[in-house]
Amino acid sequence: MIPYKHEAFTDFTLEENKKAIQEGYKTVAGYMGQDYPLIIGGDRIITEEKIVSYNPANKTEVVGSVSKATHELAAKAMEIADVTFNTWKKVKPEIRADVLFKAAAIMRRRKFEFSALLSKEAGKTWIEADVEAAEAIDFLEYYGRQMLQLKDGKPMESRPGEYNRYDYIPMGVAVVISPWNFPFAIMAGTAVAAMVTGNTVLLKPASTTPVVAYKFMEVLEEAGMPAGVVNFIPGSGSEIGDFLVDHPRTRLISFTGSRDVGLRIFERSSKLNEGQIWIKRVISEMGGKNTIVVDKEADLELAAQSIVKSAFGFGGQKCSACSRAVIVEDVYEQVVNRVEVLTKALSVGVPDKDKHFVSPVIDAAAFKKVMSYIEIGKGEGRLVAGGTGDDSKGFFIQPTVFADVDPQARIMQEEIFGPVVAMTKVKDFDQAIKIANNTEYGLTGAVITNNRMNQEKAREDFHVGNLYFNRGCTGAIVGYQSFGGFNMSGTDSKAGGPDYLTLHLQAKTTSEML
Ligand code: GLU
Repeated sequence: MIPYKHEAFTDFTLEENKKAIQEGYKTVAGYMGQDYPLIIGGDRIITEEKIVSYNPANKTEVVGSVSKATHELAAKAMEIADVTFNTWKKVKPEIRADVLFKAAAIMRRRKFEFSALLSKEAGKTWIEADVEAAEAIDFLEYYGRQMLQLKDGKPMESRPGEYNRYDYIPMGVAVVISPWNFPFAIMAGTAVAAMVTGNTVLLKPASTTPVVAYKFMEVLEEAGMPAGVVNFIPGSGSEIGDFLVDHPRTRLISFTGSRDVGLRIFERSSKLNEGQIWIKRVISEMGGKNTIVVDKEADLELAAQSIVKSAFGFGGQKCSACSRAVIVEDVYEQVVNRVEVLTKALSVGVPDKDKHFVSPVIDAAAFKKVMSYIEIGKGEGRLVAGGTGDDSKGFFIQPTVFADVDPQARIMQEEIFGPVVAMTKVKDFDQAIKIANNTEYGLTGAVITNNRMNQEKAREDFHVGNLYFNRGCTGAIVGYQSFGGFNMSGTDSKAGGPDYLTLHLQAKTTSEML
C-alpha cells in the first residue's frame, strides 16, 4: 500500500490545466439541467416534487432537478439500510476500503469535471473547487488506510491462561446530513467514514447542492459499492431530516451545518423513541467565529495577506473563515491599511473566469442575511472596504472590511458566513488572546507573531480546535491538520484525523480462558 499523501493542487497558470478545466466544463455542460432520482437500495426513484439546484453566480441557470424524498421514501430507505447493514457489516474491512480506493481513483480521473461542477453548483473559483476536489479524494484515501489500521482492533494485556481482545465493530444505520459549502469533500468524507467502518448510510445532501452528491453516488456504484450501503435521499430538513433523526433505528447521526440545526439534532436525538434500544451517537460539526490575532512583533504583510485570504476565500463561506482580526495597537493602523488595499484589489465575479477571487454567496437567503449584517456593521464600525452587493444576476457581495469594532459588537460575535471581516484594536497580546476567546465558538484561529513566548502562550490559551501560526486559518488538509472545533463549533470530531473513524464504531472486549 502506498503511504498516504495529500492530493496535489492544480496550477491554473499552466495552459494545460486551463484546458483541462475547460474540458471539465464541457462534460458538465452535457448534463446541466438534468433530472436526478433518489437512489434507495440501488433503485432509482423519481418523485413529483423536486429540489432545483441553481448556479449562485447565474441564478436562473439550473444545474439540475433532484427528486425529493417524502416520509414514506425516507422510511423505506431506512428499512433497506437496516437490512443491508446485516450483510455490509460482515464484509471484510479490506474490501470496504478497496471500494474507497477505487472510488478515489475514479474521482482523480474525473477531477476537473468535479471542479467544474463545483464551480457551477456552489459558485467556487477554480482554485477553491480544485482544493475541494483534492480534499474529497484525500478523505477516501485517508479513511481507507485508517480502516486498515483499525481492522484488528487494539492490543490489550492478557494474563497467563487468558486471551483478551479489543475489537471495533460497526454500529448500524448512519444518517449523514452534509453541507453546501463543501458539497463534495465533506459530503463524501462524512459518508465514506460511516460506510468504510461497516455502517450503512442514508445520505441527505444540502438542498442547494444535491447534484454533486448524486454524481458521487455514481462513483461509489462504479467502484463496487453494493446496493443499499449508501442511499441517496435529498429532502427537506423539517420533513425528512427530523424524521430520520427521531427514527428508532437510527444509530448514528453525522451532521455538518449551522449551530442551530446542530443543536436541534442533538436535542432530538437524545429523546428515546418507541422501539429504540440504544443511545444515538451524534457527530456534529457546526459554525465558527474565527479570529486572526496580529502581534506587534510580526510580519505585517503576512498578517494582512492571511486575513484577506482567510476572510474572503470562497466568499467567507467556510466554517473556518476568518471573520475577526484582533490587532495589537502598535501595528493596528498599518495592518488595517494594508488589508484595505488588498481587499480593494480583489475582484468578485463569475467563477469560470480564472481572475476572480471572491465567489458569490450561495443563494438569495444568504445574500439577504449577509447584506443585513453589513448594515448592522455600518452602525458598529468604520467601513473600510466593500459594503455593497448586487443580486441582479448572481449573489455577489463585495468583500467587506470594518475597522474599530467593539469586541462585543454583533458582527464580532455572530457567525455571518459571508465576505465580511471585523477588526479591533487591543493594547497587548494578552488582551488579544482574551478577545479571541470571547465567542461561544472555538473552531479555528491564527496567530501572526515572531515572538516565540507569545506563540506558546497562544498554543496553551487560545481555545480553538485548529490553531495556526504565521498562516491563515482556513485550508486544513486531511491527514495533516485534522479539522474540528470546541464549544458551539461542535463535538470536536476531528475530520481527517486519526480518531475520526472510531467515532463510527463501537469497541467490543472479548476475553477467553485458554
Ligand atoms: N476544512 C475546511 C478548512 O479548513 C473548512 C471546512 C468547513 O467549512 O466546514 O478550511
